[in-house]
Amino acid sequence: MHIGIDLGTTNSLIAVFRGGQPELIPNPLGQVLTPSVVAIRDGQLVVGEAAREIARSAPAQAAALFKRSMGTDREYRLGGTAYRAPELSAMILSALKADAEAHLGQPVTDAVISVPAYFNELQRKAVRAAGRIAGLNVTRLINEPTAAALAYGLHEREGESRILVFDLGGGTFDISVLELFEGVMEVRASAGDAFLGGEDFTEALARHIAQTAALDPHDAELRPALLKLAEQAKCALSTAPEARITAEVGGQTLDQTLTRDRFEEVTAPLLARLAVPLDRALSDANLSPGEIDRLVLVGGATRMQPVRAYAGRRLRQLPVSGVDPDQAVALGAAVQAALVARDAGLDDVVMTDVSAFTLGIDTAHRRGDRWHAGYFAPIIERNTVIPVSREETFSTVEPGQTELRFGIYQGEAPVVADNLHLGELTVQVPRNMAEHEKVKVRFTYDVSGLLEVDVTVLSTGKKASLVISQLAGEMTEAEITKALKKMKALKHHPREDAANLHLRARLDAAFAMARGPSRPWVTGLILRLEEALDAQDPDALDTLRKDLHAALDRFEADHVR
Ligand code: ADP
Ligand code: MG
Repeated sequence: MHIGIDLGTTNSLIAVFRGGQPELIPNPLGQVLTPSVVAIRDGQLVVGEAAREIARSAPAQAAALFKRSMGTDREYRLGGTAYRAPELSAMILSALKADAEAHLGQPVTDAVISVPAYFNELQRKAVRAAGRIAGLNVTRLINEPTAAALAYGLHEREGESRILVFDLGGGTFDISVLELFEGVMEVRASAGDAFLGGEDFTEALARHIAQTAALDPHDAELRPALLKLAEQAKCALSTAPEARITAEVGGQTLDQTLTRDRFEEVTAPLLARLAVPLDRALSDANLSPGEIDRLVLVGGATRMQPVRAYAGRRLRQLPVSGVDPDQAVALGAAVQAALVARDAGLDDVVMTDVSAFTLGIDTAHRRGDRWHAGYFAPIIERNTVIPVSREETFSTVEPGQTELRFGIYQGEAPVVADNLHLGELTVQVPRNMAEHEKVKVRFTYDVSGLLEVDVTVLSTGKKASLVISQLAGEMTEAEITKALKKMKALKHHPREDAANLHLRARLDAAFAMARGPSRPWVTGLILRLEEALDAQDPDALDTLRKDLHAALDRFEADHVR
């Protein structure tokens, strides 16, 4: 089976295309959103909601928000072992794969995985690596806003419209401008910020709450509680004009009321950053805000009122209804999977996408009588329809020179030092004393937005041996092989026990958050769960789980109203 996966910073989803429709697949807790959090507890891998609760009571056992470190060397320590972001992502992917297999009753081997449109080469390669470590054949990466547009466009196969997808997730922000015409969907431009999302708003609010109470916002012990309160208050403000926070944190009794105006003030620097990609995408698409027919909001963070208000004001319209901001990307990824597998139900659907970055090499320029190196020479401009290839010819400068060497860069800055260095290309050429040796270099952005490079030496017609040096932040083949072994050795927490594990983790988190008389109360609940687990009566256990969750809901609601 071929599935679509939305591997999010905060939440991940899986979907499959069946009977002419994409549908979401639930996890063992019956939910379609699986928090992108992993934990290792008693030597066992725990993924999703339970891991998110473990992160609150025992942060050292869990890892979250690691999508933000894709394409870097950052390591996370879990259960005494160091993991990099693709390995942690692979844990999520393999749990999703297992959920899909359990739901569909057959093996799942192939997947389309969505990535932020504004993910660069390194970040895309990291997602590819994660797929391999999870034992998935990643047939394609699809840009998240493109996927959302595909899910939306499937229902709008008549007529013509220009749509703008505004996608603010937990950690990334993407804008895409598309044209839809009778089932043909063309992305005209994409822009974004790979380090801006709802979690930054939570962080800003947590800092504000701490400062108001004269607490240290960076205190590692207080952080889980502060972030939880901030997250609850942020979400409450999406539907209510104000939110009241009452809780015991760091030995202090917090009692604060947050208004929407205050929230907007506190997050103003973040809101200001929304304009940059929006303006650029419109300008690259050569459209004014008034020429956009539909505004599609995607990503959980577009539920925030200041964000909705900003998008609406800027595009002078209300967002379309009927698009679930959490689900659209996964549904679109499943449609793309069906397109790759040539599903007959999608014969009339065509989707083209663009690359969000300019690709180029370094060159030297003459200034006065001297040459200065380090200038960026674009080869493929950003927002070119992919796949795309461009050829450039380079020649030796010295007689007898046997090697040509230049750097490859991605970005928009005039000097290469400010762009992303993708590596050095080294090409061997025959020693030629009489004339300059020439090589033809073909640069290709493939359908996943990944770079391929081919080199031909013109004098011999041979494909030259070419070396792109390993990029900092990229996983080597050896590292991927090692990660595969590490992954195989990990014991996965049994699926059938997911509900009990989740409840237990939630009780532990409540205990960690509570103080004073609330603590024995939580301990009492833990004992009741343990007794029921010993008694092994499935029906009684089921009822008890519901009761305890309801009690915890009330307990948490007491903190933020
Ligand atoms: P990702 O795809 O990056 O995982 P999502 O699209 O799932 O992200 O969005 C997650 C973000 O949306 C989180 O920062 C979360 O706090 C925020 N969010 C979810 N629901 C709400 C809400 N009701 N109000 C405000 N923010 C919300
Ligand atoms: Mg998302």
